[in-house]
Amino acid sequence: MFQFIQHCISDFIDLLFPDLCVGCDQLLNTSEKYICSHCRMNLPETGHHREPYDQILLNKFAGKVPIQFIASYVYFTKGSSVQKIIHQIKYKGQKEAAKEIARWYGYLLKSESKAVEAIDVVISVPLHKSRLQQRGYNQADWIAEGLAEALEIPVCKDVVIRNQFKESQTNKNRLERWENVKSAFSVLNSESVLDKHVAIVDDVLTTGATIEACATELLKAGCRSVSVLTLAVAGR
Ligand SMILES: [Zn+2]
Repeated sequence: MFQFIQHCISDFIDLLFPDLCVGCDQLLNTSEKYICSHCRMNLPETGHHREPYDQILLNKFAGKVPIQFIASYVYFTKGSSVQKIIHQIKYKGQKEAAKEIARWYGYLLKSESKAVEAIDVVISVPLHKSRLQQRGYNQADWIAEGLAEALEIPVCKDVVIRNQFKESQTNKNRLERWENVKSAFSVLNSESVLDKHVAIVDDVLTTGATIEACATELLKAGCRSVSVLTLAVAGR
């Protein structure tokens, strides 16, 4: 009887708050989770992992910080379903969706990329404490969890912290962004990354300034090498 009532309540809640696709707001059917089949099948995958030494992305870091390999799952363009997905993940509490999509990417990487085998640990780009409190979660943590689970690699938590809270990076050029993030990170527990190959994980790769700052600190702290995995990359 109790189970029946529970079932009725859950059906009622579904009726009031049906699960919608994070990419297009369409109703999801029972076999779909977070993203409808149409959006999933039409994700603009980059295929970077098949060419892990893709010069275009590595060029973002050339002469600044040595990055072993870098791969993003999908292209982020204005007005696309990916933009909507990232917005939902970042600002609308869709952290489970972030983890699920990261899992898909992790499985793809595991089956098709030799380069990921060299990664020892995964680290997400941290948010500053006050931003974290404001938002309630760090989307990059959830992405890191999903990737780590699929890749069967541990997540290293509380290693990198964000020191200062600076104004938004939006509407800043590359130099201004760099000035903004240059000393934004510190490594706290360097023993846990000593001589390790670390994959830095974030939601979207844009100019690369944030990841550059984070990678620089990790290498200073004794990491053997640094790679980068993101859910999306700006442009195509
Ligand atoms: Zn959809």
